[in-house]
Amino acid sequence: MKFNTKTIHGGQVNIDPAYGSVMPPIYQTTTYSQTTPGGHKGYEYSRSANPTRTALENALASIENGEFGLAFGSGLAAIDAVLKLFKPGDEIISTSDLYGGSYRLFRQIFEGFGIKFHFINMQDASNIEGYINNNTKLIWVETPTNPMMNIIDIAATSKIAKKHNILMAVDNTFATAYLQQPLDLGADIVMHSATKYLGGHSDVVMGSLVVNDRELADRLYFIQNASGAICGPQDSFLVLRGIKTLHIRMQRHCENGEKIARFLRTHPRVGKVYWPGFEDNPNHDIAKKQMSGFGGMISFTTIEETLESAVKVVENLKVFTLAESLGGVESLAGHPASMTHASIPEAERLKTGVVDSLIRLSVGIEDEEDLIEDLKQALG
Ligand SMILES: *Cc1c(COP(=O)(O)O)cnc(C)c1O
Repeated sequence: MKFNTKTIHGGQVNIDPAYGSVMPPIYQTTTYSQTTPGGHKGYEYSRSANPTRTALENALASIENGEFGLAFGSGLAAIDAVLKLFKPGDEIISTSDLYGGSYRLFRQIFEGFGIKFHFINMQDASNIEGYINNNTKLIWVETPTNPMMNIIDIAATSKIAKKHNILMAVDNTFATAYLQQPLDLGADIVMHSATKYLGGHSDVVMGSLVVNDRELADRLYFIQNASGAICGPQDSFLVLRGIKTLHIRMQRHCENGEKIARFLRTHPRVGKVYWPGFEDNPNHDIAKKQMSGFGGMISFTTIEETLESAVKVVENLKVFTLAESLGGVESLAGHPASMTHASIPEAERLKTGVVDSLIRLSVGIEDEEDLIEDLKQALG
């Protein structure tokens, strides 16, 4: 099955043996009747498994070309489950430029449990080996990174992970399986904030993991059930519905993203524009190699390079909504330094380029003319 067909049918077999409904029913139930103790049809309690969630988990696995999918109550709950694979003394190497909430979870929760983190620049994959020792258990990669849109070479990084027998996970939230399939490039775990493009309509908070290895899947299913950060059947249904239009939405996000990136670059009030599709972007070749398009996420700075100038632009936008989050059908603008990345200490934040004048756009699927007009008036 090819990708677009998979978004609609992937993993969806025998959805409703009772009445043949085309969409899986929302099994709004906590428990399942048993004929004799242990005599059930595969479901006994909805923390462990729920048929609507199973339908979604199968769809998630299918679009990522993986064997096993797991859905959680948020993207961070999914990352939390990955980190619970490890124990005190273990070390994790992560991209230094990453989602602020992931950084907060690593530093403020798991560091306290004795896990050591190294936040490094992975744009040159050979930089990673210097941080590997016998305690290293995981390489955490976010690509494209949030909000600087840096690209990490997944295949090159996974080669290093395999050589040292280390797990490698990729946060695929920005690209989605439509643009990039990390398991095919050698990653062991692919993670999503399904809140973003997979849900796609800014109405569900959810996270997911997909893996190929059965033993790893079993350990993660154990954590999912034992820690309990699952998502409900209604939300599972909504994200399953979102995935069915992922390919169409992503196609338009990419088209609009390109138009807006190129427009911003020519605007006299704009400083730097971060978008991996520019031919002269230092990451362009890797992006072209591992992604089938460049997505709808763009960051840029104002020419004045001041906090005030960036705040003024985002306050003046009318079609773009000033809001956290991304990946929905509507265009959003954010100010990372004070919003999504406020939980990263200023010195760390500035080191990765998240300056006060940086604005991040999640370009939606509206008419591009309206989006460009809006940016023009806000910048002018
Ligand atoms: C939003 C986001 C997360 C966290 O996901 P939640 O669903 O908000 O918990 C993780 N990684 C990236 C890249 C994100 O954008």
